[in-house]
Amino acid sequence: MFISRVACVVLLISLSVHLSAAQATLLDCLNATNATVIDQSSPAYSTQRLVANQRINRTPAAIALPNSAQAVSEIVLCCRKFNVSAVPRSGGHSYEGYSVADNSVVVDMTQGFNFYEPQGDTTAWAGSGIRLGSLYYEAWKEGGEVFPGGTCPDVGLSGLLLGAKGGGGGNFGIVTRMHLQMYPQPNTTTLIYLEWPASEAVQVMQLWQAWAPTAPDAMTSNLQMAQYGVQMHGLYSGPMSEANALLQASGLLNVSGIQYKQYNEQPFIQSALDFGAETTGISTSSPINLMLGPNVTEWHNSWKAGSYDVPTALNSTVLNLMQQAVNQNSNGWIQFSAYGGQISRVPSTASAYAGRYSLYNIQYSIGWQNPSDTQPSMAWFAQLQQTLNPYMVNSAYVNYIDNSLQNWETAYYGDNLQRLQTVKQTWDPTNFWNNPQTIPLP
Ligand SMILES: Cc1cc2nc3c(=O)[nH]c(=O)nc-3n(C[C@H](O)[C@H](O)[C@H](O)COP(=O)(O)OP(=O)(O)OC[C@H]3O[C@@H](n4cnc5c(N)ncnc54)[C@H](O)[C@@H]3O)c2cc1C
Repeated sequence: MFISRVACVVLLISLSVHLSAAQATLLDCLNATNATVIDQSSPAYSTQRLVANQRINRTPAAIALPNSAQAVSEIVLCCRKFNVSAVPRSGGHSYEGYSVADNSVVVDMTQGFNFYEPQGDTTAWAGSGIRLGSLYYEAWKEGGEVFPGGTCPDVGLSGLLLGAKGGGGGNFGIVTRMHLQMYPQPNTTTLIYLEWPASEAVQVMQLWQAWAPTAPDAMTSNLQMAQYGVQMHGLYSGPMSEANALLQASGLLNVSGIQYKQYNEQPFIQSALDFGAETTGISTSSPINLMLGPNVTEWHNSWKAGSYDVPTALNSTVLNLMQQAVNQNSNGWIQFSAYGGQISRVPSTASAYAGRYSLYNIQYSIGWQNPSDTQPSMAWFAQLQQTLNPYMVNSAYVNYIDNSLQNWETAYYGDNLQRLQTVKQTWDPTNFWNNPQTIPLP
């Protein structure tokens, strides 16, 4: 899905900015840069320190919002001078909140780097702080182009793309802008919602896993298993009649008890909106707000999630275990996202993400709002992970980053790990750029 070219990584080790000796403290130093600085005494601090996952509660020394690459460099130099971590942040959606750390300087790219600049060919430059919704909206406004990214409008382009491509994740430096390959808008799209009762989950899943990874490129879909039932969300780049014919052939429409079926044939931008509304729960009656994305502080949601790449179809024993797990907790769900298509045509060694060969990816997750649900929710997650581990291979999606994953280095990067470690050694030999799951030095 992530078919862009990441071009511009700014700022690694050699910085030419000279700091004045009069800057006695970190804050003096930051305030002398060309960035907005929010320190612990600023009224905005209590909201600016937050990330999307409310489970994360960290207190950085300051949040700096640069508006030029030069300012980014100056901030990093201050951090080096005062021996404080610099932590890049774009959309703030890291599952483990890795875009904020205690006592660090969060370098927030969302204000100075949220631009979209079409180049008059099939490419565009996008600032690293742009969110997916803004990118989709701006591209559509400019000329009807599309970019194949994620579904959630407030996810940051940087975190999403760079996790998959390998330059981001706070591993090597701070990316300031990216050169994107854009694509023509499809003439029409069909958005698909199907829902069956929970009792049919295993049968639906068996049919889906045999069909979705090999469906034509124009069809993408995911399936969600939860206590209330099993849902499929699909997007077809083409008319409803073609989408329906593909689904008929899959056998999915013949599963008994189908309780909801809707096809919406509509322009791509509307489908992107509707998918976003599904993920965020925001009404599509305010489409622009949705596309521009809510602030992370509007989320008020805690969650824990993990993932598995699945190279061969799962048998009914495993699927039954999954169904039993979601039946035990109404806040838990398991999502299956189809691979195949262009994802699998890119060799596993061409970018950081090694799991491209998979049939699909499983994300298992639980969300809650009440702090008293934290312990039982985390226990549900841990139990499910323990149950599923014996049936799964050691491969997972880094964008669903999980600090409880064992052997995470090889799970996320597979055979690419050594090459990434060489990059790390070359560009960041002191491991200045680090969080609990950044690429380790060799
Ligand atoms: C509601 C929701 C929906 C999602 N939907 C999808 C989906 O449909 N498809 C999918 O693949 N994923 C999806 N994800 C996962 C998402 O792609 C990852 O969480 C992603 O890392 C978030 O990026 P971000 O910029 O928002 O997060 P951030 O927390 O800002 O950043 C994530 C990581 O990247 C680093 N980073 C951020 N900016 C930069 C930069 N400029 N330079 C270098 N490093 C940087 C951070 O330090 C951090 O380690 C979803 C997540 C959520 C919460």
